[in-house]
Amino acid sequence: MRDRKRGTVRDLRRQNRAAVLWSLYLSQPRSRHELGAATGLSAASVTNVIRELIDKGVVIETGLAESDGGRPRTMLGMNPGYGYVIGVDIGETRTRVELFDLTMTERARAEYPLDQAAEHDVAVVVGQIASGLDTVLAGSGIDREAILGVGIGVPGIIERGPEVLVHGQTYGWDAVPLEKLLRAHTDLPLRFDNGAKTMGRAELWFGAGRGARNAVMVLIGSGVGASLISGGATYQGATSSAAEFGHVTVAVGGRKCRCGASGCLEAYVGAAAILERYGQPTAATDQELGLAELIDAASTSAHAAGILDETARYLGAGIGTLINLFNPERVILGGWAGLQLGARLLPDIRNAARQHSLHHLYAATSIVLGELGPGAVALGAATLPMETFLNSSGQ
Ligand SMILES: [Zn+2]
Repeated sequence: MRDRKRGTVRDLRRQNRAAVLWSLYLSQPRSRHELGAATGLSAASVTNVIRELIDKGVVIETGLAESDGGRPRTMLGMNPGYGYVIGVDIGETRTRVELFDLTMTERARAEYPLDQAAEHDVAVVVGQIASGLDTVLAGSGIDREAILGVGIGVPGIIERGPEVLVHGQTYGWDAVPLEKLLRAHTDLPLRFDNGAKTMGRAELWFGAGRGARNAVMVLIGSGVGASLISGGATYQGATSSAAEFGHVTVAVGGRKCRCGASGCLEAYVGAAAILERYGQPTAATDQELGLAELIDAASTSAHAAGILDETARYLGAGIGTLINLFNPERVILGGWAGLQLGARLLPDIRNAARQHSLHHLYAATSIVLGELGPGAVALGAATLPMETFLNSSGQ
């Protein structure tokens, strides 16, 4: 009985530490008073938890802030140098490896173009990640012992078993044992998730999704993905593969898709498909430039303008389906192509989404652009090991 009671007290202290750390991580600096209001903990509990975390070196005092009439308040923040996380984005056109400190400030980065992007040779990608890990460690001068873990955003579906397998149908990745392959190069803790989902987490926590409990992140690059945020957490589905949004049918019997089916949304609004419809099929590495040129050309070319108009209508119809199914308070459009298209077409996309969703549900949502840019996948991936660290309350 006494043991159980002792265990419960210990659990409670750990929960309190995790609550305070999460609160600081997502919004800093904060005063003890603000942390109490945000976590619901008593002033005494916050004071105790903060003392522990400062003693451990996880949290630091960042300065004083004026408060109305009273004494200036001591502001607290995560200690940036306590530990570091690495995020990896296995993208369609490049592999990106970024190292962040505890305040999610980028400290080093390595980028490798995928020249034969259509093939996405697994050995090439694994070699790039291994080299990237070495490069960011060397470039930042940070000791590898201080790395809390590595998060990897992958293209495709994750199968979580004894070892992580990746199914990237459109990449020709069939049950790729990515975890085992990377283990040959590093013994750092590894966590994996789908790239659209890691981007969704980054936008939810640090970008256009801040404060939203129910949101959909639509990621458009060469292909199309989505991430559902339900009740503040990423919705995973039965096999962690929810929201393969690019492969919902928008035209029965329509254009052939990379997945083998026909009429998928991706076959109309993915950058690869847009450029094909434009009559200029383009290798993955040149699609960013190709799409930018198409958008420029639309000012003077009726053909280009027509392609974009059609793209907005298909994308709006797809987003309308998401609104009808999930009733999100916010739809965030991101990914490099999503940001390029949205900068010009957002009013048209909103209009089409309105036409393809129920009035009541459309009125309850807003469709906005991502705020973090294409780098959000790596940032979001880095939040995977950070989540483990925060939940273990800074152990
Ligand atoms: Zn498809």
